[in-house]
Amino acid sequence: MDMKTASLIDGKAFAADIRARVAHLTTRQGVTPGLAVVLVGEDPASQVYVRNKGRQTVEVGMNSFEHKLPADTPQAELMGLIARLNADPAVHGILVQLPLPGHLDPEAVINAIDPAKDVDGFHILNVGRLATGQRAMVPCTPLGCLLMLKDRLGDLAGLDAVVVGRSNIVGKPMAQLLVKESCTVTIAHSRTRDLAEVCRGADILVAAVGRPRMIRGDWIKPGATVIDVGINRIEEDGRARLVGDVDFDSAVQVAGAITPVPGGVGPMTIACLLANTLTACCRANGLPEPEGLTA
Ligand code: NDP
Repeated sequence: MDMKTASLIDGKAFAADIRARVAHLTTRQGVTPGLAVVLVGEDPASQVYVRNKGRQTVEVGMNSFEHKLPADTPQAELMGLIARLNADPAVHGILVQLPLPGHLDPEAVINAIDPAKDVDGFHILNVGRLATGQRAMVPCTPLGCLLMLKDRLGDLAGLDAVVVGRSNIVGKPMAQLLVKESCTVTIAHSRTRDLAEVCRGADILVAAVGRPRMIRGDWIKPGATVIDVGINRIEEDGRARLVGDVDFDSAVQVAGAITPVPGGVGPMTIACLLANTLTACCRANGLPEPEGLTA
């Protein structure tokens, strides 16, 4: 018997395409976009993220401004830096790498960023704008998921979408974006009754949970498009592996299209950060917004 398998959504290739488009538009316009990344402390994972962001920012022809502060930096000093970056015309995007050390108040810091430069889309004003359908800066991971979905499916109107996870950085903004695209959206979470049955109703299934291989093939509607945001480090057969929230091997037999982990949503996040920085630069300078790179 012929076993049908889903087509893979290649996030790595898509992210490379977005970076190429961003680089092309960046060289064409008269202003060089600038991204400031602020890292407080020495969290090893954060250091890797910040290094990758800086490298990719420079690769697309933008200016990268890295600010590394010691772990015991007082709140007032961090707020002072944010105020200087807000006022600096060469800086179009500001990103404060999270998590911050415990003595700092992340909400106060994020909400001190000029909303027009808030390329992470975490400022309360951007959250509100997205929720009310106004022009916002959109969080990078859900933006990446949306761009992949639109590329794959075209018009999303009328489709049933299920987002598993209700975090402020992935689940909730993802659901808002899908509502904006006229999907019928269900947000599931740890208190959802019969999650498997809820997932089976989804034409679009977005998993942002943080539980390795939780969503199995028999939870998926045949032909559905599955976006796996999860990044879980597990130990298997004596070696370290990265797996998603979806059990890829069984899901790939049922879904119509699916993102792998790694190589799916992951690479899209930084690509969308660069896209957001370009968008912020265009808006600040009255230039047309980059087509196909915004929500
Ligand atoms: P959070 O821990 O903030 O949120 C997880 C969500 O999953 C919560 O809403 C929680 O529900 C829900 N949940 C937990 N257990 C279950 C369960 N058994 N059944 C149903 N729902 C459940 O995580 P994030 O949103 O920050 O991240 C989610 C995943 O995505 C992680 O693996 C993370 O590493 C990854 N990620 C990947 C990124 C990328 O670039 N690809 C970027 C950001 C995150 P409740 O609210 O009820 O507790």
